[in-house]
Amino acid sequence: MNYSIAVLEGDGIGPEICAGAIKVLNKVGEKYGHKFSFTRYDIGGAAIDACGTPLPEKTVEGCLASDSVLLGAVGGYKWDNMPVDKRPEKGLLGIRKAMGLYSNIRPAKLWKSLVSASPLKYEAVKDGIEIIIVRELTGGIYFGERGKGGEGKDEYAWDTEKYSVYEIERIMKIACELAMKRTKKIISVDKANVLESSRLWRRTVHEYAAKHYPEITVEDMLVDNTAMQIVKNPAQFDVVVTSNIFGDILSDEAAQVTGSIGMLASSSLGDGTRGLYEPIHGSAPDIAGKDLANPIATILAAAMMLRDSFSLQREYEAIEKAVESVLEDGYRTADIMEEGRTKVSGSRMAELIAERI
Ligand code: NAD
Repeated sequence: MNYSIAVLEGDGIGPEICAGAIKVLNKVGEKYGHKFSFTRYDIGGAAIDACGTPLPEKTVEGCLASDSVLLGAVGGYKWDNMPVDKRPEKGLLGIRKAMGLYSNIRPAKLWKSLVSASPLKYEAVKDGIEIIIVRELTGGIYFGERGKGGEGKDEYAWDTEKYSVYEIERIMKIACELAMKRTKKIISVDKANVLESSRLWRRTVHEYAAKHYPEITVEDMLVDNTAMQIVKNPAQFDVVVTSNIFGDILSDEAAQVTGSIGMLASSSLGDGTRGLYEPIHGSAPDIAGKDLANPIATILAAAMMLRDSFSLQREYEAIEKAVESVLEDGYRTADIMEEGRTKVSGSRMAELIAERI
């Protein structure tokens, strides 16, 4: 099969980490008989420099014409003082909107060979963990009605958390599809003991799963308890589905328990199979151009693209296994280096992974 991939390298370490992912994808293509074609488009600071806007029309058109999109990272010191609508991050928000992406999937995976990087006790993480948070991305309190008024001690401000059945069902569908490829268990996180919107959320996720995915077990967990359980017993989680604000907070907490930002990938999906796949970290301007950046997050983002956009489960597993084998053999980039291991550059790490596909 032929797949066209739009590559938005962005700024800082973006070009280096995308090069690593492309190397691995080409090896997967060779081994499994697929052809991946890559077309680069500007985004973020690089696009501001080239065309005066963080998201040129050509980039949007290129992404919409592709089968899927791989993104490096955007931002850097150079553009920190630009007006708000000309900031590199505007490019990211814009492309998500243009592609109609309403879900964000973030697997917080702690590999067995990296358990010592976790700030949690060894007993809690000894077998590795993988918490996959499916976050609703375009609704809830971040997009609800808001307002302010009054003066002095009577000055006030308010925001609204509002969800419709339609919005809850479509994010639940994404969580169910993912759970079907894994343990068939979903934990749905809400605050149904207090919030009306959470009570609708709770009722809808159960009704949706029972009707469309009867094999899946859905368990509810209150958000405050979830925050505790992630540090107490992270191994109990697999797929977690939740609202925009709860997902925002819990996905950062889950990422932190893995202890290595350079290893974590994320994807954003909408209707259809085209998605936006990226590492969760930023453009790391402090190490850009030094071949120090860990490419694994971006390589795993590319692996998620194979599984979730192209339904290439075997090829996804091949990349995961290659990463695991390189880590087990003790190779580490500077950010995850430990005593007694072999330190390698970012480009060498990508080569080692590609060699093991
Ligand atoms: P950052 O994630 O870029 O860096 C935080 C720290 O982690 C730095 O010390 C960096 O060197 C290190 N790091 C990050 N990725 C790494 C990797 N792959 N390998 C090794 N080390 C890595 O966050 P920041 O410093 O707060 O932000 C830098 C820029 O990135 C800012 O302009 C910010 O706005 C932008 N940013 C972009 C995105 C995105 O594009 N999705 C996300 C977050 C931040």
